[in-house]
Amino acid sequence: MQVSLTLNQVKAKSASKLSGLLSADRAAAEALIEFAYAHGVPIVITQGLRTIPEQDGLYAQGRTTKGQIVTNAKGGYSYHNFGVAIDFALLLPDGGVSWDTKRDGDGDGIADWDEVVADAKRLGWEWGGDWNTFTDLPHFEMTFGLSTADYRAGKRPTQAQLDKAIAKIKQVKEEADELSAEDKKRISDLEIQNKAIMMALESLANSKDVLKGQALQQAGEIKALKDKASIDKPPAWAQPAIKAAVDAGLLDTPSGSSYDFYRTLTVLHRAGVLITNHEGDK
Ligand SMILES: [Zn+2]
Repeated sequence: MQVSLTLNQVKAKSASKLSGLLSADRAAAEALIEFAYAHGVPIVITQGLRTIPEQDGLYAQGRTTKGQIVTNAKGGYSYHNFGVAIDFALLLPDGGVSWDTKRDGDGDGIADWDEVVADAKRLGWEWGGDWNTFTDLPHFEMTFGLSTADYRAGKRPTQAQLDKAIAKIKQVKEEADELSAEDKKRISDLEIQNKAIMMALESLANSKDVLKGQALQQAGEIKALKDKASIDKPPAWAQPAIKAAVDAGLLDTPSGSSYDFYRTLTVLHRAGVLITNHEGDK
């Protein structure tokens, strides 16, 4: 996100276009600038109130004066003439403006234009892009159910209607604030949880190491005990006793026993206990 301008700088660029709007429309326009900025999309309001002489001048363009036709509305036939419509453009980092509806300046995968439109609708604006007959993509209006004919006839929204719209804008802003406060709380909770998990993991790793060390030590002891207990080849000094025991039919296998066993066998043999029949005959 590349927002080089501060919110106040961005708002200052639209200030002159906001004066002349009805109170609710002005509040909604300010909120739209703030919401879009918070989404990484600086915008500028390029048109707010357009007086009836200004509208007449614009209508003349391409008809009686030079230039291209830019509007089909004579003075009094545009909601802009009554301070209940705005037009916007994307504000570029270099200070320029853009009407590129596909631009994704904040690189979030959503076209900046669509982000602004979504914010605007939440705030109560109707979007010119939703019109069936001809679409006006930079245009928003909040008309309070009155036609341009009503406005031309001098009708205006009631204070109650304006207050209701302002209350709604306030509510939407509060919800956005609550959401970010909630997010902040969630992040802080997650950080605490994460810290606890990291500590638990560390102690687990420690006990794992201790257990591993103990297991290795035990395995070593078991192996030493096994080696000590069992030898493949009987020692030479035990051979006479083994032979005697085998001859006596006391021992089936002349190998694979422990030193202790051979030692005992040898002691018995030397004590004359293991005397074979053959030896006895001698
Ligand atoms: Zn417009």
